[in-house]
Amino acid sequence: MKNPQSILRDTFGFDDFRVGQHEIVDAVIAGKNTLAIMPTGGGKSLCFQLPALVRDGLTVVISPLIALMRDQVRALQEAGVAAGALTSGNTEEETQAVFDALSEGRLKLLYMAPERLSGTATFNMLQRSNVSFIAVDEAHCVSQWGHDFRPDYLRIGELRQGLNVPLAAFTATADQETREEIVEKLFAQEAPETFLHGFDRPNIALAFDVKNSPRQQILNFVAARKGLSGIVYTGTRAKTETLANALRDAGHSACNYHGGMEPEARREVERRFQQEDGLIVCATVAFGMGIDKPDIRWVAHADLPKSIEGYYQEIGRAGRDGAPADTLTLFGPDDVRFRRTQIDEGLAPAERRIADHGRLNALMGLAEALGCRRVQLLAYFGETSEPCGNCDLCDTPADTFDATTPVRMALSAILRTGEWFGAGHLIDILRGDKTEKVLARSHDTLPTFGVGTEWSKREWQAIFRQMMGHDLVRPNPERHGALTMTDRARPILRDEEGITLRRDTIQATRMGPAVRT
Ligand code: ADP
Ligand code: ZN
Repeated sequence: MKNPQSILRDTFGFDDFRVGQHEIVDAVIAGKNTLAIMPTGGGKSLCFQLPALVRDGLTVVISPLIALMRDQVRALQEAGVAAGALTSGNTEEETQAVFDALSEGRLKLLYMAPERLSGTATFNMLQRSNVSFIAVDEAHCVSQWGHDFRPDYLRIGELRQGLNVPLAAFTATADQETREEIVEKLFAQEAPETFLHGFDRPNIALAFDVKNSPRQQILNFVAARKGLSGIVYTGTRAKTETLANALRDAGHSACNYHGGMEPEARREVERRFQQEDGLIVCATVAFGMGIDKPDIRWVAHADLPKSIEGYYQEIGRAGRDGAPADTLTLFGPDDVRFRRTQIDEGLAPAERRIADHGRLNALMGLAEALGCRRVQLLAYFGETSEPCGNCDLCDTPADTFDATTPVRMALSAILRTGEWFGAGHLIDILRGDKTEKVLARSHDTLPTFGVGTEWSKREWQAIFRQMMGHDLVRPNPERHGALTMTDRARPILRDEEGITLRRDTIQATRMGPAVRT
């Protein structure tokens, strides 16, 4: 059998496998059903291309991205590999060449768009072609849960059973629901060997800060990195402009970018960012998809991103070259309200909105983390790790306290009002404020009325925020964001478990600007 290490060197031109690649390659070569979850850019394609050259027979690769398939096939052919693609982008000659190579048994890799799987022609052809393996790229497209559902992906399971060959599925989408659906739809009963790797970007320093004077906080962060290229992400289009102006006033080279700008103006910013040294772009999340600049030295979030996945994507644009890069994410109560409203006013079905609130909660949990942020971030993606030494909480441990009593008070107020109210009203009850709404519903007669006067309104808001971060409560989009208790909260309410919260972020909130309730 051919040696994987020498194929890696001679055909692909790499000295070594990346973290995680070797084990996946071994499993695929051994013919195991495999599910591999790796971040974008982690090097998934090698994990099916290399085994295809080691194994006998033909490997079929299903991918939804035609341009990407054509690129990969071209690169493989240039490296001397017998690869071909059947896509709608083919010329007739290209298609004929693929069929010829297939019937002569010369092809090692055949790329195919999922649409090819409808009807029986492709299936019959594959049955005659000595297929020994199926690789599925972007496997999350089989999930109706995600954004990229492709109905034709549902046929892949039948194809696997019909050909009776092993299958390897690859995706960068790591959330639990999607993963379970991939396993169910592609592998039926035979649980695949699962690999999850490479989400850590150790050169990126992680830090969060409570907003108190947001513009100044960003200016300070940038001043300490003067002359280095970076991105400031903001929650709104208008803010990209005001922040870029403020940065220019402070003597930096800065411009702004958002999806509402003319395509020409956007391309100009992209071009400048790529070419100029030390340019700062203040942008909405519209900026970044096509940006391939390896030496972005920092990414700041002037506003909280919309989910933990979004956060990970956005900070991940920094330090692609592997050299140290810094990040800072600001958050405050208004951010949380803004993101919640975005979710609730979106058009997604209720189930999806509840999940989106959960993803936002996970990010708030990271913002209010008690220990190493990287450990918590990687744990969200399913990876276990040791404290990193490269985050603000590894540098300066959080100031925490036993918050079991106030949390229990808050949970009790939620339950006694039937899970029908948001934090504002619940705080009025806890603080014993006889507002109109409190009196109208006789909530001044509840046993929890006025039990929480020890904490100010703002401090209570910070406590509720942290409770969401620990996923003890979630807003219910079907009840205008009223807080609902999760199963995680039950042991605390029943006195079986205590809970620790952060004192420093509660105090920072108290010192911050006035907030609406
Ligand atoms: P993904 O599909 O996971 O987004 P790719 O398969 O396109 O990522 O790989 C991303 C980049 O990493 C490519 O430029 C590829 O050449 C490179 N790469 C993959 N494996 C290795 C390796 N073992 N050593 C060095 N570079 C690699
Ligand atoms: Zn750390």
